[in-house]
Amino acid sequence: MIHPATELRFISEAVGYGVFATQHLPKGTIVFVKDPLDIELSEQQIRRMHPDMQAVVEKYSYIDERGKRIVSWDHAKYVNNCCRCNTISTGYGFEIALRDIASGEELTDEYGLFNLDRPMRLHCSKAGCRGWVLPQDPLSWAEIWDQWVLDALRVLPEVDQPLYFLLERGVQYRLEGFLQGRLPYCSVRTLLNGLSVSDPSINDPNVAA
Ligand SMILES: [Zn+2]
Repeated sequence: MIHPATELRFISEAVGYGVFATQHLPKGTIVFVKDPLDIELSEQQIRRMHPDMQAVVEKYSYIDERGKRIVSWDHAKYVNNCCRCNTISTGYGFEIALRDIASGEELTDEYGLFNLDRPMRLHCSKAGCRGWVLPQDPLSWAEIWDQWVLDALRVLPEVDQPLYFLLERGVQYRLEGFLQGRLPYCSVRTLLNGLSVSDPSINDPNVAA
């Protein structure tokens, strides 16, 4: 479930839709938690679908650490990627705001943690844009992403968390244990299913181009 203070807006023909904040979302806000209505699909289930349906699944899903494709039931599936994202996945399974997000600002995410099975071309005009999201991006970026998450987790207890009730008890235990200094930090690396970086042929953008 995506944060209740967000809405779907049409951006352009090229980009499609995006998700925008309808109020100020402070840094440290949990902006997405997978919930029981989200659809989980195995590779076997997807293979049995019509190719047009497979394309829909591919477009609107992410792959979790077990290799399952997850299709969110709400507008969470329309959050766009940005190399300078203002939200990101954490090792606790939820997405967190990395900085204050103004009312009316688009929420953006890092697809590099979605276990992509092929390179994805980015159509973004930001300075320093990576140009591609590659399956092996976590190998070079995970440490930096962890630093971003750690910085945002520090202020998580201080901000309003309307999605906190969706965190499973085990996740709450690990998160609160970390915030209280009892348990180690859970890295974004735990989101990786390991399969996406094992085949060198899918890591080269020229192969897929
Ligand atoms: Zn970019």
